Amino acid sequence: MQDKPSTSDRPDVRRASSFRPRLLASAGILLVLVGVYLRATRVQQPSQEAEADFTTARQAMVEEGIVGWGITDEDVIAAMATVPRHAFVLDEFLDQAYENHPLPIGFGQTISQPYIVALMSQELAVEPGDRILEIGTGSGYQAAVLAELGVEVFTVEVVSELGETARERLSRLGYDAVHVLIADGYDGWADHAPYDAIIVTAAPDHVPQPLLGQLADGGWLVIPVGPPGGYQELWKIHRQGVVFESTSLGGVRFVPLVHEDPSGYVPEGWLRGSSERGRTSHATR
Ligand code: SAH
Repeated sequence: MQDKPSTSDRPDVRRASSFRPRLLASAGILLVLVGVYLRATRVQQPSQEAEADFTTARQAMVEEGIVGWGITDEDVIAAMATVPRHAFVLDEFLDQAYENHPLPIGFGQTISQPYIVALMSQELAVEPGDRILEIGTGSGYQAAVLAELGVEVFTVEVVSELGETARERLSRLGYDAVHVLIADGYDGWADHAPYDAIIVTAAPDHVPQPLLGQLADGGWLVIPVGPPGGYQELWKIHRQGVVFESTSLGGVRFVPLVHEDPSGYVPEGWLRGSSERGRTSHATR
């Protein structure tokens, strides 16, 4: 074991031959680290810049498309300036997140136009602590705007994938006051009724009777009504006991409210009422 000069040489040979691979390995690790660092800084900088760009775009949207188009409720304006709409749109539409028009969210559905979200929020006349029912969760954006007003939101979505995505998104963004149910919203959400206000963000061809039944006395229901793709009118309906008084807010365009049974009780005279404002051109842009 000890008599072999040749073996005594081996360690030196090994040292000499392992030197270059180690150097190469170290250089390789260094390169990887430098790459990771550069990548991290490259990724981080644009994302911070993008956040700043989103904030700037959101402020411009509020000034031009919300205040500029006549929304006056300070709380609604503040909510619109707070909710990160870019977190509710598909990646491919990020560059349009703060433009004043609806955007596709998949499954043939859309996130509503910011102005309409603000208008409907304002017309609901909510107070902090109120319980609100929304039919048509979609992306969850309208629900988030309402949650910013200090209310508890119960929102119903019929497309399960959209409902799940919205539920996960709202939870990630910290909107714990929003509760999502996957169901046909034509029937409302009886478990938590009555609601101080109800907002419907898909258009049925008549006012679903269950929603009227779940509206608290003195509450407001804001709902678009009309045929798919045709002329739809946005109504706000005020409940006073058994009397429902309706007022038109003008023409709008919403995706249809999907419901198996098209028959439903329409309270006599609910379409009576005054046309308060003509909003067709804004609302359907
Ligand atoms: N408020 C949403 C936009 C709504 S788009 C937002 O802020 O993003 C209208 C939504 O209503 C769609 O997601 C559609 O799937 C849903 N919808 C249609 N019919 C429905 C029904 N019967 N019950 C519940 N949701 C319905």
